[in-house]
Amino acid sequence: MGSTTMSPADVKIGPTRLLINGEWQESAGGKTFETINPATEEVIALVADADAADVDRAVAAARRAFDEGPWRKISASERGRLMNKLADLIESNQDDLAALETLDNGKPISESLSADLPLTIACYRYYAGWTDKLHGKTIPINGPYFCYTRHEPVGVCGQIIPWNFPLLMQAWKLGPALAAGCTLVLKPAEQTPLTALRVAELAMEAGFPPGVINVLTGFGPTAGQPLARHMDVDKIAFTGSTEIGHEIMKYSAESNLKSVTLELGGKSPNIVFADTDLDAAAEGAHFALFFNQGQCCCAGSRVFVEHSIHDKFVEKLVEKAKARRVGDPFDRDTQQGPQVDQDQFDKIMGYIEVGKQKGGELLCGGARVGKKGYFVEPTIFDNVSDDAKIAREEIFGPVLCVMPFTDVDEVIRRANDTPYGLAAAVWTRDIEKAHAIANNVRAGTVWVNCYDVFDAAAPFGGFKMSGSGRELGEIGLDAYTESKTVTVSLD
Ligand code: ADP
Repeated sequence: MGSTTMSPADVKIGPTRLLINGEWQESAGGKTFETINPATEEVIALVADADAADVDRAVAAARRAFDEGPWRKISASERGRLMNKLADLIESNQDDLAALETLDNGKPISESLSADLPLTIACYRYYAGWTDKLHGKTIPINGPYFCYTRHEPVGVCGQIIPWNFPLLMQAWKLGPALAAGCTLVLKPAEQTPLTALRVAELAMEAGFPPGVINVLTGFGPTAGQPLARHMDVDKIAFTGSTEIGHEIMKYSAESNLKSVTLELGGKSPNIVFADTDLDAAAEGAHFALFFNQGQCCCAGSRVFVEHSIHDKFVEKLVEKAKARRVGDPFDRDTQQGPQVDQDQFDKIMGYIEVGKQKGGELLCGGARVGKKGYFVEPTIFDNVSDDAKIAREEIFGPVLCVMPFTDVDEVIRRANDTPYGLAAAVWTRDIEKAHAIANNVRAGTVWVNCYDVFDAAAPFGGFKMSGSGRELGEIGLDAYTESKTVTVSLD
Protein backbone atom coordinates (compact mmCIF):
# COMPACT_ATOMS: atom_id res chain seq x y z
CA MET A 1 0.00 0.00 0.00
CA GLY A 2 1.13 3.59 -0.64
CA SER A 3 1.37 6.49 1.75
CA THR A 4 -1.21 6.50 4.50
CA THR A 5 -1.53 10.12 5.56
CA MET A 6 -4.08 9.74 8.32
CA SER A 7 -5.33 6.90 10.44
CA PRO A 8 -8.89 6.46 11.71
CA ALA A 9 -7.65 7.15 15.23
CA ASP A 10 -6.75 10.74 14.24
CA VAL A 11 -10.23 11.62 12.97
CA LYS A 12 -12.24 14.12 15.04
CA ILE A 13 -15.68 12.57 15.57
CA GLY A 14 -17.76 15.67 16.45
CA PRO A 15 -21.27 15.65 17.94
CA THR A 16 -23.19 12.38 18.44
CA ARG A 17 -26.44 13.71 19.91
CA LEU A 18 -29.58 15.10 18.27
CA LEU A 19 -29.78 18.76 17.30
CA ILE A 20 -33.19 20.09 18.32
CA ASN A 21 -33.93 23.79 18.60
CA GLY A 22 -30.24 24.68 18.60
CA GLU A 23 -29.40 22.33 21.48
CA TRP A 24 -27.60 19.00 21.54
CA GLN A 25 -29.93 16.53 23.18
CA GLU A 26 -30.10 12.83 24.05
CA SER A 27 -32.97 10.96 22.44
CA ALA A 28 -36.17 10.98 24.50
CA GLY A 29 -35.84 7.25 25.15
CA GLY A 30 -32.12 7.58 25.96
CA LYS A 31 -31.25 5.00 23.28
CA THR A 32 -28.14 5.01 21.12
CA PHE A 33 -26.88 2.97 18.17
CA GLU A 34 -23.42 2.06 16.92
CA THR A 35 -21.96 3.58 13.81
CA ILE A 36 -19.39 1.26 12.24
CA ASN A 37 -16.17 1.79 10.29
CA PRO A 38 -16.88 -0.34 7.19
CA ALA A 39 -13.16 -0.85 6.50
CA THR A 40 -12.50 -2.52 9.88
CA GLU A 41 -16.00 -3.43 11.14
CA GLU A 42 -15.12 -1.64 14.40
CA VAL A 43 -17.45 0.70 16.27
CA ILE A 44 -16.61 4.37 15.71
CA ALA A 45 -19.10 5.93 18.13
CA LEU A 46 -22.49 5.59 19.79
CA VAL A 47 -25.03 7.97 18.31
CA ALA A 48 -28.42 9.09 19.66
CA ASP A 49 -31.27 6.97 18.32
CA ALA A 50 -34.29 9.23 17.70
CA ASP A 51 -37.89 8.04 17.85
CA ALA A 52 -41.36 9.54 17.39
CA ALA A 53 -41.11 11.68 20.55
CA ASP A 54 -37.93 13.30 19.23
CA VAL A 55 -39.58 13.85 15.86
CA ASP A 56 -42.40 15.68 17.66
CA ARG A 57 -39.92 17.90 19.50
CA ALA A 58 -37.86 18.67 16.39
CA VAL A 59 -40.90 19.39 14.23
CA ALA A 60 -42.31 21.69 16.93
CA ALA A 61 -38.99 23.59 17.01
CA ALA A 62 -38.95 23.88 13.21
CA ARG A 63 -42.60 25.00 13.25
CA ARG A 64 -41.92 27.74 15.81
CA ALA A 65 -38.85 28.94 13.92
CA PHE A 66 -40.92 29.10 10.75
CA ASP A 67 -44.21 30.53 12.08
CA GLU A 68 -42.99 32.86 14.79
CA GLY A 69 -39.25 32.77 14.84
CA PRO A 70 -36.67 35.02 13.31
CA TRP A 71 -36.22 32.88 10.19
CA ARG A 72 -39.33 34.11 8.44
CA LYS A 73 -38.58 37.69 9.29
CA ILE A 74 -34.92 38.03 8.42
CA SER A 75 -34.12 39.39 4.99
CA ALA A 76 -33.42 37.18 2.01
CA SER A 77 -29.91 38.57 1.71
CA GLU A 78 -29.21 37.77 5.37
CA ARG A 79 -30.26 34.17 4.68
CA GLY A 80 -27.74 34.17 1.85
CA ARG A 81 -25.04 35.58 4.10
CA LEU A 82 -25.57 32.80 6.66
CA MET A 83 -25.46 30.15 3.95
CA ASN A 84 -22.23 31.55 2.56
CA LYS A 85 -20.80 31.58 6.05
CA LEU A 86 -21.70 27.92 6.46
CA ALA A 87 -20.00 27.18 3.12
CA ASP A 88 -16.89 29.01 4.32
CA LEU A 89 -16.86 27.04 7.58
CA ILE A 90 -17.22 23.75 5.72
CA GLU A 91 -14.34 24.83 3.48
CA SER A 92 -12.07 25.73 6.37
CA ASN A 93 -12.86 22.35 7.99
CA GLN A 94 -12.74 20.35 4.77
CA ASP A 95 -9.83 18.08 5.66
CA ASP A 96 -11.48 17.01 8.92
CA LEU A 97 -14.88 16.59 7.27
CA ALA A 98 -13.38 14.53 4.43
CA ALA A 99 -11.67 12.26 6.97
CA LEU A 100 -14.89 11.87 8.95
CA GLU A 101 -16.81 11.02 5.77
CA THR A 102 -14.21 8.42 4.82
CA LEU A 103 -14.26 6.94 8.33
CA ASP A 104 -18.05 6.58 8.51
CA ASN A 105 -18.77 5.70 4.87
CA GLY A 106 -15.59 3.95 3.69
CA LYS A 107 -15.09 6.02 0.55
CA PRO A 108 -11.46 6.70 -0.44
CA ILE A 109 -10.05 9.83 1.18
CA SER A 110 -8.84 11.06 -2.21
CA GLU A 111 -12.46 11.12 -3.41
CA SER A 112 -13.88 12.67 -0.24
CA LEU A 113 -11.37 15.48 -0.78
CA SER A 114 -11.69 15.83 -4.55
CA ALA A 115 -15.43 15.19 -5.05
CA ASP A 116 -17.63 15.21 -1.95
CA LEU A 117 -16.25 18.30 -0.25
CA PRO A 118 -15.93 20.64 -3.27
CA LEU A 119 -19.40 19.67 -4.54
CA THR A 120 -20.89 20.17 -1.06
CA ILE A 121 -19.34 23.62 -0.65
CA ALA A 122 -20.36 24.65 -4.18
CA CYS A 123 -23.95 23.58 -3.52
CA TYR A 124 -24.32 25.80 -0.44
CA ARG A 125 -22.74 28.72 -2.32
CA TYR A 126 -24.94 28.22 -5.36
CA TYR A 127 -28.14 28.28 -3.29
CA ALA A 128 -26.87 31.15 -1.11
CA GLY A 129 -26.90 33.15 -4.34
CA TRP A 130 -30.57 32.36 -4.93
CA THR A 131 -31.99 33.67 -1.65
CA ASP A 132 -32.71 37.19 -2.95
CA LYS A 133 -33.54 36.17 -6.50
CA LEU A 134 -36.78 34.25 -5.97
CA HIS A 135 -38.90 36.61 -8.00
CA GLY A 136 -42.61 36.33 -8.65
CA LYS A 137 -44.26 37.88 -11.70
CA THR A 138 -46.79 40.59 -12.45
CA ILE A 139 -49.62 39.16 -14.54
CA PRO A 140 -51.84 41.17 -16.92
CA ILE A 141 -55.24 39.62 -16.03
CA ASN A 142 -58.55 40.94 -17.35
CA GLY A 143 -60.28 43.77 -15.47
CA PRO A 144 -59.16 46.55 -13.14
CA TYR A 145 -56.81 44.44 -11.09
CA PHE A 146 -53.16 44.28 -10.22
CA CYS A 147 -52.17 40.62 -10.10
CA TYR A 148 -48.82 39.24 -9.03
CA THR A 149 -47.25 36.07 -7.67
CA ARG A 150 -45.00 35.58 -4.68
CA HIS A 151 -42.70 32.60 -4.19
CA GLU A 152 -43.10 31.74 -0.53
CA PRO A 153 -41.31 29.01 1.45
CA VAL A 154 -43.30 25.79 1.66
CA GLY A 155 -42.80 25.65 5.45
CA VAL A 156 -41.40 22.88 7.66
CA CYS A 157 -39.54 20.28 5.61
CA GLY A 158 -38.69 16.71 6.56
CA GLN A 159 -35.60 15.52 4.71
CA ILE A 160 -34.43 11.91 4.67
CA ILE A 161 -31.09 11.10 3.07
CA PRO A 162 -29.04 7.99 2.22
CA TRP A 163 -25.52 6.92 3.13
CA ASN A 164 -23.71 6.94 -0.24
CA PHE A 165 -22.90 10.68 -0.30
CA PRO A 166 -23.81 11.84 3.21
CA LEU A 167 -22.35 15.37 3.05
CA LEU A 168 -23.45 16.01 -0.50
CA MET A 169 -26.99 14.72 -0.02
CA GLN A 170 -27.29 16.95 3.03
CA ALA A 171 -26.22 19.93 0.89
CA TRP A 172 -28.70 19.01 -1.87
CA LYS A 173 -31.44 19.05 0.76
CA LEU A 174 -30.44 21.96 3.00
CA GLY A 175 -29.28 24.25 0.18
CA PRO A 176 -32.60 24.85 -1.61
CA ALA A 177 -34.69 24.55 1.58
CA LEU A 178 -32.73 27.26 3.40
CA ALA A 179 -32.51 29.46 0.30
CA ALA A 180 -36.31 29.36 -0.03
CA GLY A 181 -36.74 30.28 3.65
CA CYS A 182 -37.95 26.90 4.94
CA THR A 183 -37.05 25.32 8.27
CA LEU A 184 -36.17 21.66 8.37
CA VAL A 185 -35.69 18.39 10.20
CA LEU A 186 -33.01 16.26 8.55
CA LYS A 187 -32.67 12.52 9.13
CA PRO A 188 -29.32 11.18 7.94
CA ALA A 189 -28.90 7.49 7.15
CA GLU A 190 -28.20 5.28 10.18
CA GLN A 191 -25.00 3.97 8.50
CA THR A 192 -23.43 7.45 8.19
CA PRO A 193 -24.73 9.95 10.78
CA LEU A 194 -21.49 11.71 11.73
CA THR A 195 -20.85 14.33 9.04
CA ALA A 196 -24.47 15.57 9.12
CA LEU A 197 -24.09 16.30 12.83
CA ARG A 198 -20.75 18.06 12.31
CA VAL A 199 -22.20 20.27 9.54
CA ALA A 200 -25.14 21.09 11.81
CA GLU A 201 -22.62 22.16 14.45
CA LEU A 202 -20.94 24.42 11.88
CA ALA A 203 -24.37 25.86 11.00
CA MET A 204 -24.86 26.79 14.65
CA GLU A 205 -21.44 28.44 14.60
CA ALA A 206 -22.42 30.33 11.42
CA GLY A 207 -25.36 31.79 13.34
CA PHE A 208 -28.46 30.02 12.02
CA PRO A 209 -31.23 30.69 14.57
CA PRO A 210 -32.36 27.77 16.80
CA GLY A 211 -34.99 25.52 15.21
CA VAL A 212 -34.12 26.35 11.58
CA ILE A 213 -31.92 23.26 11.17
CA ASN A 214 -32.72 20.20 13.29
CA VAL A 215 -30.94 16.86 12.87
CA LEU A 216 -32.33 13.54 14.08
CA THR A 217 -30.08 10.51 13.78
CA GLY A 218 -31.86 7.17 13.85
CA PHE A 219 -33.48 4.45 11.80
CA GLY A 220 -35.99 4.55 8.96
CA PRO A 221 -39.00 2.90 10.60
CA THR A 222 -38.58 4.63 14.00
CA ALA A 223 -37.36 8.13 13.04
CA GLY A 224 -37.94 8.48 9.27
CA GLN A 225 -41.48 7.16 9.26
CA PRO A 226 -42.89 9.46 12.01
CA LEU A 227 -41.23 12.39 10.26
CA ALA A 228 -42.82 11.53 6.90
CA ARG A 229 -46.21 10.94 8.58
CA HIS A 230 -46.11 14.07 10.74
CA MET A 231 -49.16 16.32 10.42
CA ASP A 232 -47.09 19.47 10.99
CA VAL A 233 -44.53 18.74 8.27
CA ASP A 234 -45.41 20.55 5.04
CA LYS A 235 -43.03 18.76 2.71
CA ILE A 236 -40.97 15.59 2.66
CA ALA A 237 -37.88 15.16 0.50
CA PHE A 238 -36.50 11.65 0.29
CA THR A 239 -33.46 10.12 -1.38
CA GLY A 240 -33.10 6.36 -1.08
CA SER A 241 -34.46 3.10 -2.42
CA THR A 242 -37.49 2.84 -4.68
CA GLU A 243 -38.98 0.43 -2.15
CA ILE A 244 -39.00 3.06 0.61
CA GLY A 245 -40.03 5.72 -1.93
CA HIS A 246 -43.36 3.85 -2.23
CA GLU A 247 -43.73 4.00 1.55
CA ILE A 248 -43.00 7.74 1.69
CA MET A 249 -45.79 8.41 -0.83
CA LYS A 250 -48.14 6.30 1.29
CA TYR A 251 -47.21 8.15 4.50
CA SER A 252 -48.06 11.43 2.82
CA ALA A 253 -51.36 10.07 1.48
CA GLU A 254 -52.26 8.66 4.88
CA SER A 255 -51.41 11.87 6.77
CA ASN A 256 -51.69 15.47 5.53
CA LEU A 257 -50.91 15.10 1.80
CA LYS A 258 -47.61 16.87 2.33
CA SER A 259 -45.78 17.45 -0.93
CA VAL A 260 -43.26 14.76 -1.77
CA THR A 261 -40.08 14.76 -3.81
CA LEU A 262 -38.28 11.48 -4.38
CA GLU A 263 -34.86 10.61 -5.77
CA LEU A 264 -34.74 6.83 -5.99
CA GLY A 265 -32.93 3.97 -7.67
CA GLY A 266 -31.61 3.47 -11.16
CA LYS A 267 -30.26 0.97 -13.66
CA SER A 268 -28.71 3.44 -16.02
CA PRO A 269 -27.73 2.51 -19.59
CA ASN A 270 -24.27 3.55 -20.77
CA ILE A 271 -24.19 3.17 -24.55
CA VAL A 272 -20.91 2.77 -26.44
CA PHE A 273 -20.92 3.07 -30.24
CA ALA A 274 -18.13 1.68 -32.40
CA ASP A 275 -17.11 5.11 -33.73
CA THR A 276 -16.13 6.45 -30.30
CA ASP A 277 -12.69 7.01 -28.83
CA LEU A 278 -12.47 3.57 -27.24
CA ASP A 279 -9.97 4.49 -24.54
CA ALA A 280 -12.02 7.47 -23.37
CA ALA A 281 -15.21 5.39 -23.42
CA ALA A 282 -13.60 2.53 -21.50
CA GLU A 283 -12.30 4.93 -18.88
CA GLY A 284 -15.75 6.56 -18.77
CA ALA A 285 -17.58 3.24 -18.42
CA HIS A 286 -15.20 2.10 -15.68
CA PHE A 287 -15.67 5.34 -13.74
CA ALA A 288 -19.44 5.40 -14.35
CA LEU A 289 -19.89 2.11 -12.55
CA PHE A 290 -17.04 1.70 -10.07
CA PHE A 291 -16.95 5.27 -8.71
CA ASN A 292 -17.95 5.33 -5.02
CA GLN A 293 -17.78 1.51 -4.83
CA GLY A 294 -20.68 1.33 -7.30
CA GLN A 295 -22.89 2.96 -4.68
CA CYS A 296 -24.40 5.63 -6.95
CA CYS A 297 -28.07 5.81 -7.85
CA CYS A 298 -27.01 6.89 -11.35
CA ALA A 299 -24.26 4.25 -11.76
CA GLY A 300 -23.83 3.18 -15.40
CA SER A 301 -24.62 -0.43 -14.59
CA ARG A 302 -25.86 -1.58 -18.02
CA VAL A 303 -23.04 -1.03 -20.51
CA PHE A 304 -24.42 -1.50 -24.04
CA VAL A 305 -21.51 -2.11 -26.42
CA GLU A 306 -21.83 -2.16 -30.23
CA HIS A 307 -21.08 -5.70 -31.49
CA SER A 308 -18.21 -4.76 -33.81
CA ILE A 309 -16.04 -3.41 -30.96
CA HIS A 310 -17.29 -5.74 -28.26
CA ASP A 311 -14.19 -7.90 -27.78
CA LYS A 312 -11.71 -5.04 -27.87
CA PHE A 313 -13.80 -2.89 -25.54
CA VAL A 314 -14.42 -5.63 -23.01
CA GLU A 315 -10.71 -6.39 -22.90
CA LYS A 316 -10.06 -2.77 -21.91
CA LEU A 317 -12.80 -2.86 -19.27
CA VAL A 318 -11.41 -6.02 -17.70
CA GLU A 319 -7.88 -4.67 -17.68
CA LYS A 320 -9.04 -1.56 -15.81
CA ALA A 321 -11.17 -3.50 -13.33
CA LYS A 322 -8.26 -5.82 -12.50
CA ALA A 323 -5.92 -2.87 -12.01
CA ARG A 324 -8.29 -1.04 -9.65
CA ARG A 325 -6.67 -0.54 -6.23
CA VAL A 326 -9.05 -1.82 -3.55
CA GLY A 327 -8.12 -1.32 0.09
CA ASP A 328 -7.63 1.04 3.03
CA PRO A 329 -9.74 4.12 2.27
CA PHE A 330 -7.29 6.30 4.21
CA ASP A 331 -4.51 5.40 1.78
CA ARG A 332 -4.30 8.24 -0.76
CA ASP A 333 -3.65 5.74 -3.58
CA THR A 334 -6.76 3.66 -2.91
CA GLN A 335 -9.42 3.84 -5.62
CA GLN A 336 -12.05 1.61 -4.03
CA GLY A 337 -12.92 1.25 -0.35
CA PRO A 338 -15.37 -1.10 1.36
CA GLN A 339 -19.13 -1.22 0.77
CA VAL A 340 -20.98 0.66 3.48
CA ASP A 341 -22.15 -2.22 5.68
CA GLN A 342 -22.75 -5.94 6.06
CA ASP A 343 -26.26 -5.73 4.57
CA GLN A 344 -25.05 -4.09 1.39
CA PHE A 345 -22.10 -6.48 1.16
CA ASP A 346 -24.40 -9.50 1.51
CA LYS A 347 -26.84 -8.12 -1.03
CA ILE A 348 -24.09 -7.55 -3.60
CA MET A 349 -22.55 -11.00 -3.05
CA GLY A 350 -26.04 -12.45 -3.48
CA TYR A 351 -26.43 -10.73 -6.86
CA ILE A 352 -22.99 -11.96 -7.93
CA GLU A 353 -24.03 -15.55 -7.12
CA VAL A 354 -27.25 -15.12 -9.10
CA GLY A 355 -25.23 -13.66 -12.00
CA LYS A 356 -22.83 -16.59 -11.97
CA GLN A 357 -25.67 -19.09 -12.12
CA LYS A 358 -27.90 -17.33 -14.60
CA GLY A 359 -27.64 -14.25 -16.72
CA GLY A 360 -24.07 -13.71 -17.81
CA GLU A 361 -20.49 -14.78 -18.09
CA LEU A 362 -18.21 -13.71 -15.21
CA LEU A 363 -15.10 -12.08 -16.69
CA CYS A 364 -13.39 -10.86 -13.53
CA GLY A 365 -13.94 -10.29 -9.82
CA GLY A 366 -16.85 -11.89 -8.02
CA ALA A 367 -15.20 -12.44 -4.64
CA ARG A 368 -14.59 -10.74 -1.33
CA VAL A 369 -11.30 -8.89 -0.80
CA GLY A 370 -9.59 -9.68 2.52
CA LYS A 371 -11.26 -11.04 5.63
CA LYS A 372 -12.16 -7.85 7.48
CA GLY A 373 -14.21 -4.99 6.12
CA TYR A 374 -16.84 -5.09 3.41
CA PHE A 375 -14.54 -5.11 0.35
CA VAL A 376 -15.76 -6.55 -2.96
CA GLU A 377 -13.66 -7.19 -6.07
CA PRO A 378 -14.51 -5.07 -9.12
CA THR A 379 -16.75 -7.48 -11.03
CA ILE A 380 -17.73 -7.68 -14.70
CA PHE A 381 -20.34 -9.91 -16.32
CA ASP A 382 -20.43 -10.17 -20.12
CA ASN A 383 -23.26 -11.01 -22.54
CA VAL A 384 -25.85 -10.37 -19.88
CA SER A 385 -29.38 -10.98 -21.14
CA ASP A 386 -31.94 -8.18 -20.86
CA ASP A 387 -34.18 -10.20 -18.58
CA ALA A 388 -31.43 -11.36 -16.19
CA LYS A 389 -31.94 -10.33 -12.58
CA ILE A 390 -28.52 -8.59 -12.55
CA ALA A 391 -29.57 -6.53 -15.60
CA ARG A 392 -32.93 -5.52 -14.16
CA GLU A 393 -32.36 -4.83 -10.46
CA GLU A 394 -30.22 -2.17 -8.84
CA ILE A 395 -27.16 -3.88 -7.31
CA PHE A 396 -25.58 -0.75 -5.78
CA GLY A 397 -22.12 -2.27 -5.81
CA PRO A 398 -19.08 -2.82 -8.05
CA VAL A 399 -20.82 -5.09 -10.56
CA LEU A 400 -20.88 -4.09 -14.23
CA CYS A 401 -23.03 -5.79 -16.88
CA VAL A 402 -21.95 -5.73 -20.54
CA MET A 403 -24.77 -6.10 -23.09
CA PRO A 404 -23.89 -6.15 -26.82
CA PHE A 405 -26.15 -4.37 -29.36
CA THR A 406 -26.33 -3.81 -33.14
CA ASP A 407 -28.23 -0.64 -34.03
CA VAL A 408 -29.58 2.65 -32.69
CA ASP A 409 -33.30 1.82 -32.56
CA GLU A 410 -32.60 -1.50 -30.89
CA VAL A 411 -30.39 0.02 -28.20
CA ILE A 412 -32.91 2.79 -27.46
CA ARG A 413 -35.66 0.21 -27.00
CA ARG A 414 -33.48 -1.94 -24.74
CA ALA A 415 -32.13 1.05 -22.77
CA ASN A 416 -35.74 2.05 -22.02
CA ASP A 417 -36.76 -1.47 -21.04
CA THR A 418 -36.48 -0.78 -17.31
CA PRO A 419 -38.76 0.63 -14.63
CA TYR A 420 -36.04 3.20 -13.87
CA GLY A 421 -35.11 6.46 -15.60
CA LEU A 422 -32.47 8.32 -13.65
CA ALA A 423 -29.53 8.72 -16.01
CA ALA A 424 -28.02 7.50 -19.28
CA ALA A 425 -24.90 8.13 -21.31
CA VAL A 426 -23.75 7.72 -24.88
CA TRP A 427 -20.23 7.53 -26.29
CA THR A 428 -19.97 8.43 -30.00
CA ARG A 429 -18.42 10.89 -32.45
CA ASP A 430 -21.63 10.90 -34.52
CA ILE A 431 -23.81 13.87 -33.57
CA GLU A 432 -26.97 12.20 -34.92
CA LYS A 433 -26.50 9.13 -32.76
CA ALA A 434 -25.72 11.30 -29.76
CA HIS A 435 -28.96 13.24 -30.17
CA ALA A 436 -31.00 10.13 -30.95
CA ILE A 437 -29.97 8.78 -27.54
CA ALA A 438 -30.30 12.13 -25.73
CA ASN A 439 -33.82 12.68 -27.08
CA ASN A 440 -35.22 9.16 -26.87
CA VAL A 441 -33.84 7.54 -23.74
CA ARG A 442 -36.24 8.29 -20.92
CA ALA A 443 -33.94 9.52 -18.16
CA GLY A 444 -33.57 12.70 -16.09
CA THR A 445 -29.94 13.19 -17.13
CA VAL A 446 -28.12 12.16 -20.31
CA TRP A 447 -24.36 12.52 -20.51
CA VAL A 448 -22.73 12.62 -23.96
CA ASN A 449 -19.08 11.50 -24.02
CA CYS A 450 -18.82 11.99 -20.27
CA TYR A 451 -20.35 10.57 -17.09
CA ASP A 452 -21.17 11.75 -13.57
CA VAL A 453 -20.65 15.41 -14.40
CA PHE A 454 -22.43 17.12 -11.52
CA ASP A 455 -22.90 20.81 -10.89
CA ALA A 456 -25.14 22.55 -8.37
CA ALA A 457 -26.64 24.55 -11.28
CA ALA A 458 -27.65 21.48 -13.34
CA PRO A 459 -30.94 19.76 -12.36
CA PHE A 460 -30.90 16.09 -11.38
CA GLY A 461 -33.73 13.61 -10.83
CA GLY A 462 -35.62 10.73 -12.35
CA PHE A 463 -38.21 9.70 -14.90
CA LYS A 464 -40.45 6.71 -14.12
CA MET A 465 -39.71 4.86 -10.86
CA SER A 466 -36.45 6.74 -10.30
CA GLY A 467 -38.42 9.46 -8.57
CA SER A 468 -40.40 12.63 -8.89
CA GLY A 469 -39.26 16.23 -8.84
CA ARG A 470 -35.81 17.62 -9.55
CA GLU A 471 -32.99 18.67 -7.26
CA LEU A 472 -30.29 21.27 -7.98
CA GLY A 473 -30.46 24.23 -10.32
CA GLU A 474 -33.23 26.84 -10.36
CA ILE A 475 -35.83 24.10 -10.75
CA GLY A 476 -34.63 22.58 -7.46
CA LEU A 477 -36.21 25.54 -5.66
CA ASP A 478 -39.69 24.60 -6.92
CA ALA A 479 -39.99 21.84 -4.35
CA TYR A 480 -39.36 24.28 -1.51
CA THR A 481 -41.60 27.15 -2.60
CA GLU A 482 -45.32 27.69 -2.92
CA SER A 483 -46.54 30.10 -5.56
CA LYS A 484 -49.08 32.55 -4.17
CA THR A 485 -51.29 34.65 -6.46
CA VAL A 486 -52.26 38.07 -5.10
CA THR A 487 -54.98 40.02 -6.88
CA VAL A 488 -55.59 43.66 -5.90
CA SER A 489 -58.68 45.58 -7.02
CA LEU A 490 -57.80 48.90 -8.64
CA ASP A 491 -61.43 49.92 -9.07
P1 ADP B 1 -30.85 1.60 1.58
O1 ADP B 1 -31.55 0.31 1.39
O2 ADP B 1 -29.88 1.91 0.50
O3 ADP B 1 -30.26 1.82 2.95
P2 ADP B 1 -33.22 3.08 2.19
O4 ADP B 1 -34.21 3.59 1.23
O5 ADP B 1 -33.63 1.95 3.08
O6 ADP B 1 -31.93 2.73 1.36
O7 ADP B 1 -32.69 4.24 3.14
C1 ADP B 1 -32.54 5.60 2.75
C2 ADP B 1 -32.97 6.48 3.90
O8 ADP B 1 -34.33 6.22 4.19
C3 ADP B 1 -32.23 6.24 5.21
O9 ADP B 1 -32.07 7.47 5.89
C4 ADP B 1 -33.18 5.33 5.98
O10 ADP B 1 -33.04 5.40 7.38
C5 ADP B 1 -34.52 5.90 5.55
N1 ADP B 1 -35.65 4.97 5.68
C6 ADP B 1 -35.62 3.61 5.59
N2 ADP B 1 -36.85 3.09 5.81
C7 ADP B 1 -37.68 4.13 6.03
C8 ADP B 1 -39.06 4.26 6.32
N3 ADP B 1 -39.85 3.19 6.42
N4 ADP B 1 -39.56 5.50 6.50
C9 ADP B 1 -38.80 6.59 6.38
N5 ADP B 1 -37.47 6.55 6.13
C10 ADP B 1 -36.91 5.34 5.94
